Amino acid sequence: MSQTDRNNGDSLEPNSGTSGHISHARDPHDQEEGRTADTLIEADGLCRPSIGARLRVQESPHAATDRFNNIKAAVETILQSVGEDPYRPGLLDTPKRFAKAMMDFTQGYGQDVRDIVNNAIFNENHNEMVLVKNIDISSLCEHHLVPFTGKMHIGYVPNNRVIGLSKLPRIAQMFSRRLQVQERLTRQVAETIVETLQPQGVAVVMESSHLCMVTRGVQQYSAVTVTSCMLGCFETNDKTRNEFLSLVGMGSGR
Ligand SMILES: [Zn+2]
Repeated sequence: MSQTDRNNGDSLEPNSGTSGHISHARDPHDQEEGRTADTLIEADGLCRPSIGARLRVQESPHAATDRFNNIKAAVETILQSVGEDPYRPGLLDTPKRFAKAMMDFTQGYGQDVRDIVNNAIFNENHNEMVLVKNIDISSLCEHHLVPFTGKMHIGYVPNNRVIGLSKLPRIAQMFSRRLQVQERLTRQVAETIVETLQPQGVAVVMESSHLCMVTRGVQQYSAVTVTSCMLGCFETNDKTRNEFLSLVGMGSGR
């Protein structure tokens, strides 16, 4: 019941406008002129930043300390509210540890995608599918602030330009270090690759386990949630999509 039918994955968000989006994103000159709401990467290189992302990127050391202390104080309140003693030795440093962890879990909002890609886009006459499988993903469910972890598989068909292979996991990591839902994470990775590389198509599939489902509520220890986003030729060409699904081990049995 938690398994998202991969064939419907890219229609999970009807407004994502799969083929429409790719044709928009394919014309880089469009983006120079005026960025539209459709544009994922903003002028300063941030991709769909959170409301306070720029403030956080540009803040002074003093403001950063204030921010950190605010999180610590909030955690102390939580500890008190659940009936704990925040001053017992085992918990004394917990607010500080949590604040550090939280800043780390959310650092992806402020990353500049141009630094991540770092010009690693090369003209290459290779127009066959490129696939990076089994990328480890750890993100934070925005509904419960607990982790979900799993694997992402990213494939694309170049249009005479390829991207350095390590950049695909790095783009995935940037979006996973945010408060997320798996559906959006999957789509954002695919759309960013489209916008960065203008390939013929991009396919992203993610399988993961959500701690909020494992440890609370329905307590589904082995449920795996699968989401997918198929853009460009992966959406329009069955053969390309099936080749991708078969290469990531999802091609048969359905
Ligand atoms: Zn959750």
